[in-house]
Amino acid sequence: MANIAFIGLGNMGGPMAANLVKAGHKVAGFDLVEASRDAAKAAGVAVAARTEEAVKGADAVITMLPAGKHVLSVWKEIIPALGETKLLIDCSTIDVESARYAHGQAALAKLPSVDAPVSGGTGGAKNATLTFMCGGDDAAFAAAKPILEAMGKKIVHCGAAGAGQAAKICNNMILGISMIGVCEAFTLGEKLGLSHQALFDVASTSSGQCWSLTSYCPVPGPVPTSPANDEYKPGFAAALMLKDLRLSQEAAKATGASTPLGAHAESIYDAFEKAGQGGVDFSGIIHALRMAGKK
Ligand code: NAD
Repeated sequence: MANIAFIGLGNMGGPMAANLVKAGHKVAGFDLVEASRDAAKAAGVAVAARTEEAVKGADAVITMLPAGKHVLSVWKEIIPALGETKLLIDCSTIDVESARYAHGQAALAKLPSVDAPVSGGTGGAKNATLTFMCGGDDAAFAAAKPILEAMGKKIVHCGAAGAGQAAKICNNMILGISMIGVCEAFTLGEKLGLSHQALFDVASTSSGQCWSLTSYCPVPGPVPTSPANDEYKPGFAAALMLKDLRLSQEAAKATGASTPLGAHAESIYDAFEKAGQGGVDFSGIIHALRMAGKK
């Protein structure tokens, strides 16, 4: 069992750190927010007063932070203090460029590193059923895998540094586009006098089948566990979907990939957030489509 430092104990990081404790690891951690520190402490994490203190003597350091700028700033702070540490793992969803830069900084200090963003949401974080998409060399991935297995059920090595982040934004671009497509179909079905259940029963067993429909149905009823049945509370907030779509479009621009539907999905979620709906589950985009329709 390893000594692990966990920086960023929020909605995802908190339960992930708790699962490492449950698996028998010795976990130290830090977060800027007191409530997150208290919850982690209650779950058995040795909460430190500062990041630098939390990482002292760690075999591996995991970061789970909001965006690239937070990861770069924390890694800049900790890398000089990590003499004996064997591994750096970033599980945040960040832009590919920042991820590659972070790997480069770690390599300069001769520290193995892995980008390992996740899919599965807060439910997956609590239940240790996350999917990890990893980028880094073979040795770093092999060292990270047993640690990640305490927090997830599928650990995929996607390629070299930054490949995990690349897989994450491609996946979430599909998700943003497919959710809007499913919501459009329900909105059109309503106008045509079709019941939600009838459309679900047909599309879920036909060629329109996809995760946004069968696991995360955006209307109440057909999938009892979807946020639509709980007033569209997240789940996965629309603001986070917008963040991931923005990352996908930055990457598309940087690489010259043509992603017209990804760009359109970004503009639809951008308008939703500007209308004050960023905290609503991303399946709540169906409200915006209904409102945009004519009588
Ligand atoms: P969150 O805001 O709940 O947690 C982030 C935490 O980082 C906060 O508690 C914040 O205080 C802490 N933090 C920020 N800067 C810090 C610093 N310098 N030192 C220490 N702590 C610091 O966010 P979250 O939902 O846990 O998401 C974390 C990451 O996971 C994001 O990149 C997000 O895109 C990604 N993600 C989230 C979900 C989800 O469903 N919530 C799903 C997949 C991926």
